[in-house]
Amino acid sequence: MLALWFPGPTSVTGEDVAELHLHGSRAVLSAVMTVLRRLGLRLAEPGEFTRRAFQNGKLDLTQAEAIADLAAAETEAQRRQALRQLDGALGDLYRGWSGRLLRLLAHLEAAIDFPDEELPPQIESEVDRGTQRLLAEITAHLADGRRGERLRDGIAVAIVGPPNVGKSSILNQLVRREAAITSAIAGTTRDVIEVAIDLDGYPVVLADTAGLRDSGDIIEQEGLRRALARAEAAELRLFVFDAQSPGAARGAAAWPGTSTLLVANKIDLAPDRDRLPEGAIAVSALTGEGLPELIRHLTDRVAEDYRAEAPMLTRARHREALETAAEALRRSLVAGLPELRAEDLRLAWRGLGHITGHADVEDLLDVIFADFCLGK
Ligand code: GDP
Repeated sequence: MLALWFPGPTSVTGEDVAELHLHGSRAVLSAVMTVLRRLGLRLAEPGEFTRRAFQNGKLDLTQAEAIADLAAAETEAQRRQALRQLDGALGDLYRGWSGRLLRLLAHLEAAIDFPDEELPPQIESEVDRGTQRLLAEITAHLADGRRGERLRDGIAVAIVGPPNVGKSSILNQLVRREAAITSAIAGTTRDVIEVAIDLDGYPVVLADTAGLRDSGDIIEQEGLRRALARAEAAELRLFVFDAQSPGAARGAAAWPGTSTLLVANKIDLAPDRDRLPEGAIAVSALTGEGLPELIRHLTDRVAEDYRAEAPMLTRARHREALETAAEALRRSLVAGLPELRAEDLRLAWRGLGHITGHADVEDLLDVIFADFCLGK
């Protein structure tokens, strides 16, 4: 047996921590547990170590969440994103904003509370400019197309196109080749089949939709409606058509832009590739021809969109708090009285603080007194 002692406050949780390394037989474990229980110790609740680390200021909330994400990560990109968040990159970004906001607030409060002090007269316009800059950065961060959240939950790729062109066959082929996860997703309907795959480290949820065509049949109409909704919501689309009738590729015009890849299937039946529209990837789900190129194109597209330079927003909880903060900043810019502006800045600051779990009035006092030496 090996016993390690980590005295607080430099341990992981900030408290005194003892680690016992035991031979893992059940009899040894239960004997040691009995002794420990007699000493008044108990098993930790789920997440208790992380919780204590947070409460003792060792981690912020985004880092605590990253530990949960890391434990749940199924692909390399998810693991990287979680590790980065655990490193504190996301928390640093939010704390950076929070600190700037606090400074703006402190300046404004000083102008309000101590009008007789020797404060520079342009304080209010400086606060305005600072608020605008901060608002622009938060808005840009929010407008990231939910990439971080998608990386956590899976990037949706819809396979669309007319009936019988080979959509299901292509899905099966892609799944067989890249089947690292292949968990069928709950909520699968008879019209939309979803499969999660690991595409070169990126979690992708492939959705095979019912054939797109007008139909009098009420059930088919419902299938069509769901297929369209799914295709609409997806980050990327594979528009599959039969290489024998290349004119059908025009159907892809329903989704203009670069997020729709054209896939000409059944190329084994249509050897004349010159008739295919430009950029179409020729494949045969039957012979397997062209499938590696299709996978490469898809992987490149996903990697291009999801390669992260700046830390990304990863949770709806963060998004909500940031939206609250942005809303308050916007209000503060149009509020007439400095007191109202300060109140909005305070709300925005509290919103940011909710993300990392740091929002304390003491912080505000610290900044006020550090910047202005008002106590004299
Ligand atoms: P979906 O309705 O678009 O999902 O099409 P399916 O995947 O069900 O395929 C329709 C028919 O086309 C099936 O009989 C498949 O075996 C056939 N098929 C699919 N891909 C190919 C292909 O690449 N070449 C040939 N010759 N037949 C294919």
